Amino acid sequence: MEKKGTIQDKMYADIQDVSIYQTAQKKGYEYLTNVFDRNVYPTKKALEDLANFDEDMPTATSEANTILEHLNTYGSPATVANMGGRYFGFVCGSSVPIGLAAKNLATFWDQSPTMNVLSPIGSKLETVVENWLKQLFNLPESTVAGFVSGTSMATFCGLAAARYRLLSNQGWNINDQGFSNAPKIRVITGKHAHSTVLKAISLLGFGKNNIEWVDVDNQGRIIPDRIPEMDNATLLILQAGNVNSGSFDDFEQICKKANKVGAWVHIDGAFGMWAGAVNQLKHLTKGAEKANSWAVDGHKTLNTPYDNGIVLCEDKEALMSALHMSGSYIVTSKERDGTFYTPEMSRRARIVELWAILKYLGKNGIDEMILEMHKRALQFSKELSNINGFTVLNDVVFNQVMVSCETDDLTDKTLARIQELRKCWVGGSTWKGKKVIRISVCSWATTKEDVDISVSSFKKALEEINIELSS
Ligand SMILES: *Cc1c(COP(=O)(O)O)cnc(C)c1O
Repeated sequence: MEKKGTIQDKMYADIQDVSIYQTAQKKGYEYLTNVFDRNVYPTKKALEDLANFDEDMPTATSEANTILEHLNTYGSPATVANMGGRYFGFVCGSSVPIGLAAKNLATFWDQSPTMNVLSPIGSKLETVVENWLKQLFNLPESTVAGFVSGTSMATFCGLAAARYRLLSNQGWNINDQGFSNAPKIRVITGKHAHSTVLKAISLLGFGKNNIEWVDVDNQGRIIPDRIPEMDNATLLILQAGNVNSGSFDDFEQICKKANKVGAWVHIDGAFGMWAGAVNQLKHLTKGAEKANSWAVDGHKTLNTPYDNGIVLCEDKEALMSALHMSGSYIVTSKERDGTFYTPEMSRRARIVELWAILKYLGKNGIDEMILEMHKRALQFSKELSNINGFTVLNDVVFNQVMVSCETDDLTDKTLARIQELRKCWVGGSTWKGKKVIRISVCSWATTKEDVDISVSSFKKALEEINIELSS
C-alpha cells in the first residue's frame, strides 16, 4: 500500500498542483459566460440537488479536485443570477469584470489591511480610494473612510461616531463611562428609514422606542417642516435612496438646520449616494456634503463584488475613538492603519476590487454606467405603464420602480408567476398599505433587450393569472 503522507504534505502537493486553481478559474469563467442567458432563479431540480451537500461532518480527508467538482456540479446551478442583466431583486448589483479579476489575484495574496505593517499594499490602496471617494462625493477635506462589509456595518460605524461625539460634547466619554447614566441623546429619523438603520440604533443602545419619527411625503421623503426642534444632542438620520421608491431626502434644507444647532447628521446612502458621483444625477444628493457621516455600498450601484461597504466620516477623531482598540502588540505607523476605521481587527482586503473598479471606470465610466441604470429604470416604467393592468406608483428619479396590479391579490399572484417564469427576478414590498412589485435596476449588464424581455414576462404573467382567475 502506498505510504500516506501528512496533511501538510498533502497541502504542499496542492500548492503545486496548478490544475486545482485552473479548474476553479475555468469553471468560474464558464459560469460567467452563461449567467447572462440562463434562468435567473435556480430550477426546481437545482434546488432539490442541494441535498447533495447534506452529510455529517466528514472524518476522512478529501481531494481538492473532487471538492471543486462537487461544488461546481451542485453549487453553480443553485445560484441566483444576480451577475446577469435581469436580476432586479432587492438592490443587487452585478460585478464589473475587472473587479472579479483583481479580487481573484488578491485572493492569492490573502491580505488583512489591519495595520500598515500587515499589508502595505492594502494600506496604500485604502489611502488612495479614501481620497477618490472624497472627490467623487464632494465631501469635506477632513473626511476619512472605513472599509467594511456593507452599509449595515457602515451605518453602525457612523452612528457609533455620532454617539461618541454628541456625548463627548456634553463631557461624557461613552467608551469609559458607558451608556447607563449618560446624558440623553435624541434620535430622529424618517418613517421610511431602512431596517438596518433601526438595527444600528438597537445595537448601539439608543433604543428603537426612543426614536422621534418624522412623517414622509408620497415618495417616502422626510417632510422638512415636520422635523422636531433639534439641538447639539441630536442624531438625525437621512436617506439617499429610499429602498422602495429610490427617493432622496432634501439634504440641502435639512442639513442647514441641523448644522446650525450642532446636531449630527448621518446619511444612509447604500445605493443612492452614487447619484452624487454622476454629473446628470447629482442634483439628487445636493447638500449631502453638509452631513457628518455617510454609509455607502460598493456592492450595489458601483457593482463591486459582495462584501464591500464604506463608512465616511468628516470627524476623524469621533470615528477613530468610537472604533478604538489597542494592545501592546499593535504596531501603528505614520501610514494608514485600517483597523482604526472599522469594527473588525482582521478583515480581507476588499479594497483591492474597489480600487480596481474605480480605476477602470474613471469618473466618466461611473457617469455612463450609473446613468444607464437610470435610463433602464425609466424604460421599465414607461413600458409597464403602457400595459393595461399595471400602474407605476413612484417618480422614477433614480433606479427604483414600483408597480402594482388592480388588487393586492392580483399583484401577489402576478409577482409569484413572474418569479416562476424565471426570465427575470423581482421582489415584492408594500407601499402605503398596498402590495407592490419592486424593480431595482442596479446592474451594469442590464440592456434595453433585458428590460424588454422582462416586461414581456410581466405581461405574460398577468395574462396567465387573469385567464386562470376567469376560468
Ligand atoms: C441595502 C441597503 C442597506 C443595507 O446594506 P448592506 O450592504 O446590505 O448591509 C441599507 N440601506 C439601504 C437604503 C439599502 O438599500
